Amino acid sequence: MTHLMRTTRPTFLIGACRHFDERFLSTLGNKIGMDLLADTPAAWQASLPVAKKGIGATRVEMIAPYAWMASQAAIVPVAHQFSIRPSDTTQLTRRLILDVIWHKLDEPGAGCQNLRDRVPRPDADFEAFYRAAPASARQLQGALCALVTQELLRIARCPSDDVSAVREQRIAQPNASRYLTVLPTEPELIMEDHEMRLIIKTRLGAPVIPGMEKLQRYSCGLCSQPYFGQDFAAHFLSCTAMTATEGLKRHNQSPASLPSTSNAVEDRSASSRK
Ligand SMILES: [Zn+2]
Repeated sequence: MTHLMRTTRPTFLIGACRHFDERFLSTLGNKIGMDLLADTPAAWQASLPVAKKGIGATRVEMIAPYAWMASQAAIVPVAHQFSIRPSDTTQLTRRLILDVIWHKLDEPGAGCQNLRDRVPRPDADFEAFYRAAPASARQLQGALCALVTQELLRIARCPSDDVSAVREQRIAQPNASRYLTVLPTEPELIMEDHEMRLIIKTRLGAPVIPGMEKLQRYSCGLCSQPYFGQDFAAHFLSCTAMTATEGLKRHNQSPASLPSTSNAVEDRSASSRK
């Protein structure tokens, strides 16, 4: 899909992108028991990168124009060398996308201001811009996709509520979400499907247990404390009266396994030096 997005005009590809997103998000949604295609803060949050509070379920429909634009910028020196001129449609499509980019950059309080030096204005000479500064095209796709992240962060924000605010603050801490992107090295570190479902729902602020009434008062059978609605579902993750489980064993094992792993690496590098 990345190759297609970089090489094909988005006006031509957008239907395929939408189809791809629908298939991908409905499959992932079925796995975790959530509607990821719904217009809800939780579903939009899921589309954010893992380091930005999401689960990295990217929507290619949103990034396709920027992927193509970045590729257009990168090929300018090569196209010039072979005297290849862009077609009228290509030039028009570039201008349309640049128009959207500058509209976003000129909004009051907009982020991504580092892009201002890296993309020409819609009516500027695109070829001349990137021939003069070819380095501006380097890693441009990632920089442009920050515009999508910025927009998703805005629409994924819940109306002010204390529980969501604490949750978002926690998962946005540096490295707080690394566990979602590393590969388990030991069988004990593998997360089961039901554990992932719980993790993702909690992360996205989706109901952990569907059908729990928001204002219904529940009482924990272990510590006897009262909780309302989904707070009660979340309490299962932190009840101090709960005894150690397989899940806790996995959690505690990671620090214990670190010294042995680093020793093994040292042993290997020592023997390879011999
Ligand atoms: Zn409890």
